[in-house]
Amino acid sequence: MPEGYFGDMSFTAHWVLPIRTLTHPITNISVSGRIHGEAELMTTDLTSGHGDDCQVCKAIEQLMNDDDCLFLKLWDISLSKEYSGKLTISIPVSPQCNGREITILHCANGTLKTYTATAVNGRVVFEAESLSPFAMFAEDYDLPAVITGAVTEVSDTGAKLSGSVTSDGGATVTERGFVYGTAPDPEIDGEGVTKITAGSGMGDFTANLEGLEPHTEYYVRAYAVNSKSTAYGGIVSFRTEEESMEEGNGGEDNRDDVSDENGEEEGVEEEEDKGSDGDTKTGDSGLPRVWWLLFTVAAAGITVLIVSKNEKKACKSY
Ligand SMILES: [Zn+2]
Repeated sequence: MPEGYFGDMSFTAHWVLPIRTLTHPITNISVSGRIHGEAELMTTDLTSGHGDDCQVCKAIEQLMNDDDCLFLKLWDISLSKEYSGKLTISIPVSPQCNGREITILHCANGTLKTYTATAVNGRVVFEAESLSPFAMFAEDYDLPAVITGAVTEVSDTGAKLSGSVTSDGGATVTERGFVYGTAPDPEIDGEGVTKITAGSGMGDFTANLEGLEPHTEYYVRAYAVNSKSTAYGGIVSFRTEEESMEEGNGGEDNRDDVSDENGEEEGVEEEEDKGSDGDTKTGDSGLPRVWWLLFTVAAAGITVLIVSKNEKKACKSY
């Protein structure tokens, strides 16, 4: 019998194949199982498109482009020689994904296979019986649930806002607060819309508005941000009171009344008075310190937003 006879017949019982672990030197993807002794591991990043015409691959590609799915990566993994039985596949992911459930969709010659695994130490490990395209999606979260509460303590230039985060949607609420303006649909970054942050996490929160225009209709909504996106509460409107009639000679008295209502802010209000002088319209006489404080808080909030966006991107990028 000539040497290699069995090999030419492609007859290799699976117990003949050695148990091996192959790790790709660049992508760090590894495959373990009964694998031919001369097999090489090949990995190709198909994230930007893979041109397979089969229905399953098309469906997977559709999910990759769906904004509701947090798509991570599409890998084509193959071995140059035969393997047998189950393979253990280990794929690196961003450490940002640690603890999150990863869903892996696999096209096995036109049949959809679904695997799930929790990312641990920057890797996703799962077992599969065939190779080729593996699309990885991270567990997605719901939006937080947030309620805009009643507006109280309305004066000619101020009001107290209240809100509540009743659900975090499964992901930490990294920022919450209010947006308000004189247009009826305030949103973050909207024209003429002011954002005030009020902490993070679940539960009730409030914010004191000052420096509003007297006798003006304002619209306010509470908002909450988690890694999914930003959720808004319902729109609540309120009208500031008429400017005090002692405008000409009693402007400062009026201002003092407001200060008394918001005891802690008194010092700030007094400085504002000195700047306002004869004109009682706070908004027209330069930026009072309160506004600078609010602006600083809002700017800090924007930074948080950018950071959380980057986290999501980092998760996607591997
Ligand atoms: Zn396919």
